Amino acid sequence: MSSTRLSPSPTPIVDVHTHVYFPRYAAELRARSSAPRILTRTGADGKPEERLLILDGEPGSGRSVGPQYWNREEKLEFMKRHHIHVSFVSSANPWLDFLPAERANTLAQALNNDLEEYCASSPKADGFPGLRSIYGFGLLPLVPHIPISSVIQTIEQIKTLPHVSGVIMGTKGIGNGLDDDALEPIWEAIESAGLVVFVHPHYGVDTQAFGNKPNGHVLPLALGFPFETTITITRLILAGVLDRYPNLRLLLAHSGGALSQLSSRIASCIAHDPVVAKRLQHDARYYLGKLYFDAVAYGPEELGFVSETIARAESYNATGSYNADAGSTRMLFGTDHPFFPPLEGSQKWQSVEDNMKAIRNVRGWSESTQADVLGHNALRLFNLKC
Ligand code: URA
Ligand code: ZN
Repeated sequence: MSSTRLSPSPTPIVDVHTHVYFPRYAAELRARSSAPRILTRTGADGKPEERLLILDGEPGSGRSVGPQYWNREEKLEFMKRHHIHVSFVSSANPWLDFLPAERANTLAQALNNDLEEYCASSPKADGFPGLRSIYGFGLLPLVPHIPISSVIQTIEQIKTLPHVSGVIMGTKGIGNGLDDDALEPIWEAIESAGLVVFVHPHYGVDTQAFGNKPNGHVLPLALGFPFETTITITRLILAGVLDRYPNLRLLLAHSGGALSQLSSRIASCIAHDPVVAKRLQHDARYYLGKLYFDAVAYGPEELGFVSETIARAESYNATGSYNADAGSTRMLFGTDHPFFPPLEGSQKWQSVEDNMKAIRNVRGWSESTQADVLGHNALRLFNLKC
């Protein structure tokens, strides 16, 4: 496999998976005494260091946090270093999940305004004066006991924010997951507002499955996160949400987890199950062609496989035929910054380089397909022109 050297080019490079904790949110985490929280402890060098604990019982007392999580200059510097022209930033997990309804509601609106200000005052994209360097995904107050009308009001608020083009959503909904019937008016409002929903994991799967060896964050991040996403999207398909809202645009974190790999098995289990066999309008594999997938998979073979399953979706329509090149049009470059920093000081982040190289090395992807996945697909998804 050849590896192409990346250099600045006329292709806009757009990162759709990059996170921020706004100062207002970090303050909320600092004020807490249980996870999720930010605590200060004395580091190995004897100086105070802040640690982020996002889950109870998190391995290794969480992770070190600093300005790369909240300072826009650091984000812009990171973008410049990796030749990223535009970032669609989203609040990082666990969003507002842990807050009482009223606080979640107030904070969602305030953080959406913070986001608009952060984006609107960002510099123009380097080399693409028609674009800003930063746009964003807002937050909805999806927590137990929230009146659905409050969530709809927040969707209305986001519609008025010119640089906020979607929402990031965890997998809990208002307590019963995203296939909860109570969310129907929310899907309807999001679809009609034309917002993109970035579906992102946080909880993983039951940690008992991971045993008790000291494996750091490897199992929850490499397996827990993607399986959480896979389960969530499969539940959405099974609940008929994608049948009822065919224009809903869902962007899946980490290339949809294991959805592509398991899609034929899901279809077969549906076809053999008397409870669901007749429920859906299409074969389960059809719905992969309605979704968008970030390209945060770190390997060219994985990206190629995901794009084949997206393209194949079309064969489950009336004609049975499909265009093998169509899958890549629904895949979008991402970094997951500021997570996965290099363990030792390094100018370029390995995690970012791996994702870029993976896009450059998918078998059969032309330079123009690579450019689409690196940037043009995102601009099309968000109706932006460079
Ligand atoms: N990536 C994320 O988005 N969140 C985490 O907690 C870890 C990696
Ligand atoms: Zn992420």
